[in-house]
Amino acid sequence: MSIPWAEVEWWIGVVHYLACLSPTVCSVFYHLFMNHEGGAPIYDTLLCFDMFGVCLVNTLGALPIIHITLLCYPSSRRVAMLAYLLLSGYGVHCAVSAQSNVHRLQSFAWQAIFRFVLFMLRLTGAGRGSPASLRLYLTMDTLALLGGLVNISRLPERFSPGGFDYWFNSHQIMHIMVVLSIVYLHWGTLEDLTWLKGYHCPGE
Ligand SMILES: [Zn+2]
Repeated sequence: MSIPWAEVEWWIGVVHYLACLSPTVCSVFYHLFMNHEGGAPIYDTLLCFDMFGVCLVNTLGALPIIHITLLCYPSSRRVAMLAYLLLSGYGVHCAVSAQSNVHRLQSFAWQAIFRFVLFMLRLTGAGRGSPASLRLYLTMDTLALLGGLVNISRLPERFSPGGFDYWFNSHQIMHIMVVLSIVYLHWGTLEDLTWLKGYHCPGE
């Protein structure tokens, strides 16, 4: 509801909206049916659905960032968008076919490196965007990375097996960090969209 729909290009609003919503909906769906008795095939399908939501936020969430960072370089922008989409397709394939949590986290590495390059472009002044959003995006990716690392390290239940079965286990901590990460994505994108309204590329 805080997206300024009337002031932004429609596709930016739509992809950002879907990016914020998809991991939440898919993860809730996955966890809601964890009491199924259908065995591995049902579980694998549910896990794919969960992973697909994470892939969507990684993919769709970054498209407005790419668009705004390379705002004044239309041809580079199109190539970067295409490259990121191809990278995302590869990431989805890796994430849904991964055999362990570690491999699942690694599936998102290339997208994270790509975003890091965009952030460095902004930091050096070559990339465009609101000066306030960079800090929010860096917090977003730091939270997502830390959440992933907590999830695969199985902290804190590793030190007290059984003691965290209901509360404060690694999976719950990861989900809270991921939700916060999405909130930072939203704040960063809102900053960028406000900035975009009043910006014109040199020579325009
Ligand atoms: Zn989960």
